[in-house]
Amino acid sequence: MIKLENYITGKSITGDGDGQSLYNAVTGDLIATATTKGLDFKSILEYGRNVGNPALRKLTFYERGNMLKALALHLQEHLNKFYALSYKTGATKADSWVDIEGGIGNLFANASLRRKLPNETFCVDGDSHNLSKGYTFMGTHILVPKDGVAVRINAFNFPVWGMLEKIAVNLLSGVPAIVKPASVSCYLAQAVVKEIITSGILPEGSLQLICGSAGDLLEHVNSQDVVTFTGSASTGLMLKSNANILKENVPFNMEADSLNCIVLGNDVTPEMPEWEIFVKEIRKEMTLKAGQRCTGIRRIFVPENKIDDIQKALIKSLQQTIIGNPLNEKVKMGSLAGQSQRREVKEQVQKLLASSQMIYGSLDSVDVVDADANKGAFISPILLMNDKPFASTEVHEVEAFGPVSTIMPYKNMDDAIELSKKGKGSLCTSIVTASPSIAKQYVIHAATHHGRILVLNNECAKESTGHGSPLPLLIHGGPGRAGGGEEMGGLRGIKHYLQRTALQGSPTMLTAITNVYQPHAKGNTKTIHPFKKYFEDLNIGDQLISDKRIITSEDIDKFADLSGDHFYAHLKTTDFSGTMFTHQVAHGYFIMSIAAGLFALGYEKNPVQLNYGIDGLRFVKPVYPGAKIYIRFTCKEKLMHDKNLQQQADDLLNEDPGIDNGIVKWYVEILDSTDDPVVGLATILTMVAKKNG
Ligand code: NAP
Repeated sequence: MIKLENYITGKSITGDGDGQSLYNAVTGDLIATATTKGLDFKSILEYGRNVGNPALRKLTFYERGNMLKALALHLQEHLNKFYALSYKTGATKADSWVDIEGGIGNLFANASLRRKLPNETFCVDGDSHNLSKGYTFMGTHILVPKDGVAVRINAFNFPVWGMLEKIAVNLLSGVPAIVKPASVSCYLAQAVVKEIITSGILPEGSLQLICGSAGDLLEHVNSQDVVTFTGSASTGLMLKSNANILKENVPFNMEADSLNCIVLGNDVTPEMPEWEIFVKEIRKEMTLKAGQRCTGIRRIFVPENKIDDIQKALIKSLQQTIIGNPLNEKVKMGSLAGQSQRREVKEQVQKLLASSQMIYGSLDSVDVVDADANKGAFISPILLMNDKPFASTEVHEVEAFGPVSTIMPYKNMDDAIELSKKGKGSLCTSIVTASPSIAKQYVIHAATHHGRILVLNNECAKESTGHGSPLPLLIHGGPGRAGGGEEMGGLRGIKHYLQRTALQGSPTMLTAITNVYQPHAKGNTKTIHPFKKYFEDLNIGDQLISDKRIITSEDIDKFADLSGDHFYAHLKTTDFSGTMFTHQVAHGYFIMSIAAGLFALGYEKNPVQLNYGIDGLRFVKPVYPGAKIYIRFTCKEKLMHDKNLQQQADDLLNEDPGIDNGIVKWYVEILDSTDDPVVGLATILTMVAKKNG
């Protein structure tokens, strides 16, 4: 019998003893055993902190992003192996796609975030603030990787996605991970980790895996570590209240079971496309992954006068679900993850039956294709009806983690909102409506209790990612019962693994530390025109102070004619009484164009390839004819830039390799010759060639 290896402290180690038996959920055959007995959990944490953490934190965000991309590409080459194991968890091809390729997709999505982050080991967070009259003292915030390890205790339902969506984030942040997948399906997570370790793409110590019990791991975590838990509310509560976690103030993020719901808007009638959309969405959510999704729809709220018709439509739809061996391509719903999960679902349904009645499905029998309904952990979809949702508690509290959902009537939108909140916090809720006013009422009033809201109608249904799918760029998590945690969400997610520190000092000092030019810092004017410098040679703070140009009334007239912008303030014939201006005022865009004329080099070719935008353009005060305008133009920030796909392909073929370049942001201060000189501010974005590009 295969005893699963744990990947810890730079080695693959099997634990002592026989370990927990892991079964094929479809056939009931024994697959492997898992044990962590005899492992030294303290040293696993120390290895992550002392070996993985220094190696990751010395990489820049850009390098870590590229590492994730390489990892995603590598794992894509081994899909067959992962799918073969995934079928054994009871997952169909569609379920496995969500788990495996959805997980890899998360690696790609996080890898892409590198473009929004500096080529540094740390980053600046948010705006900086001047803190003094003389502009010599300021403040900003920086984010540095935590000095510890991300401990990932995951649920059984998505062994790959659940792991990859989490480690992508901590690896991009510069923090290593220790993953403890749920035992019942850990052989799939283990196969993926084995492939990651053999690829050699991650620095040593970045990822460790324990298959089986977490032992006394949590007794040794400290405040630089982050513990995340995904699973049942009861286990979560127990772990969250661990004395060491409380004493050490260890950040703990919890994603727990939640009683997610869907609402049918009162405007929807059987003739409308939204009717079918509602029915289909419920069937999909009940049967995908056999309902073992943390985001699964457990509660269905329908206007009371439509409940009979919806009930019939849902039953008809569920009857089409072919259940059985996921290897059979006709099968739409596989099995639960194991026998104990099936027992648990049945027990939970029994609790729900105290106040609801079963209107579709059975706890005792299920028709299956190409499988033995008893050996495999199969169960039929179960639809319940509860006609007194305000009087029942079970339906808002008991989660049956399988293809189980309950229909309930509501009278008006206020009722639907209140009922949605009776779940005391969920990961997501959906409303199906064609009415913006109904949607708005629901969204604004129900949002307090749900981490994500999907508004489904005919316009978006075809391309919608669906009620149940958390997305890498949106947050996943929910208040109250859902655990009170939050993860993913693009750049928001990585901040959970970075320490945010307020930083105060002089603008020049903070520029030197952050490598981002801070307003009022000293610039370096003793240099050639910055546009003559290649990307590598440019230094933050390289600065040009231009000649002056006098703005004339004729200039403004000409710009008005050229642009067609004859707004009254730019016309000298205007009577300015009662306006904000005293005379003909220059167009802001004219002043910006003048600024470009003052910083751009004349006719010579230079390493600046193109200007592709302006951020934060502000016109601070009016410019009247006679004003003497000049600019202070400073190299503010440098970012890495990838070649596009065509350029990469050309590189491989050794044909025209294109020009390799980086992004340079320039801080432009447009000034006049008064004591309060700033008339405009902007950040110009350019692409600058690399020397050897
Ligand atoms: P679970 O029994 O609570 O287990 C979750 C994880 O905690 C497993 O890895 C489990 O390991 C581990 N664990 C249990 N006792 C532990 C201990 N004393 N110390 C350290 N780790 C411990 O939940 P599950 O049955 O795997 O998952 C199903 C539940 O998860 C459902 O209720 C579902 O709603 C919820 N879920 C939530 C989300 C979300 O994002 N909110 C996602 C998926 C699932 P073992 O397997 O080795 O016991």
